[in-house]
Amino acid sequence: MAQIIDGKAVSAKIKEQVRDEIAHGNIKAGLAVVIVGSDPASRVYVNNKKKACEFCGIKSFEYALPEETTMEQLLELIDTLNNDKNVNGILVQLPLPKQLDEKAVIERISPKKDVDAFHETNVGKIMIGNYSFLPCTPAGCMELIHSTGVDVAGKECVVIGRSNIVGKPMAMLLLHENGTVTVCHSKTKNLAEVCRRADILVAAVGKPNFVTADMVKEGAVVIDVGINRLENGKLCGDVKFDEVSEKASFITPVPGGVGPMTIATLMKNTLTAAKIQNHE
Ligand code: NDP
Repeated sequence: MAQIIDGKAVSAKIKEQVRDEIAHGNIKAGLAVVIVGSDPASRVYVNNKKKACEFCGIKSFEYALPEETTMEQLLELIDTLNNDKNVNGILVQLPLPKQLDEKAVIERISPKKDVDAFHETNVGKIMIGNYSFLPCTPAGCMELIHSTGVDVAGKECVVIGRSNIVGKPMAMLLLHENGTVTVCHSKTKNLAEVCRRADILVAAVGKPNFVTADMVKEGAVVIDVGINRLENGKLCGDVKFDEVSEKASFITPVPGGVGPMTIATLMKNTLTAAKIQNHE
């Protein structure tokens, strides 16, 4: 039976460290969160980010824009935030309404304030291993892997999913720690067979209960990034928890696994951004 990796506990520790560093160093840090439209899931994420800021002593600035916001209006706000000395980090909650070009919006954020690490400049820096921030979800997954005491070096690591925000950077971070990394996607052949090779298996697919026990090696570390809402309103991951936890050595639950880590890393990144900007 697998040991459950407690994302709430690991993330609480990180937030406490951020809070203590801000308090003891008397550091001024601010995070602007921009939300466009009224997607209920996005609203929940934004509220959680606000709460985490309050806990850490980070000033949060929230901009709730209407669904029909134009590109021009949104880019104007980003320019203002880029120039605002009280704002060290800027986060635009995704997804954006259809009329808005997500890529252009992300590229408008100053790379120094891009605490999500989605800007091309930051993505490039991560690729060559010379970065200030790591993308929040993959970095959170790495912290959870570290919390198990399992060393990534030399391990077979399989990531299911190749999105720019989870799968690809996740693979890169595992590679930086000397894992032997395979990235799977919807065109991968013999997926179950590839997954069974994994000592560390990361699922970032967005399909409920996608990873079943027959896809998992005995004793593997299983990280479930998926957040899927079922018809009954309950949240569920990409991994069929009940059966996979019988086989894995460590497993993250949903909720309470990767989710809280994403926010904790965001707090850490905002502190890093503030420290860099305050010394300029
Ligand atoms: P995307 O939809 O952007 O990517 C999904 C990936 O899964 C794609 O690369 C896709 O392949 C792959 N995929 C889909 N079907 C299959 C299949 N049958 N076999 C193998 N691979 C498949 O999702 P995201 O990366 O943005 O998010 C993934 C999940 O993680 C979602 O549930 C999301 O809600 C969650 N998430 C959770 C976060 C957290 O804080 N815990 C943060 C961000 C996301 P292809 O590229 O070929 O289409």
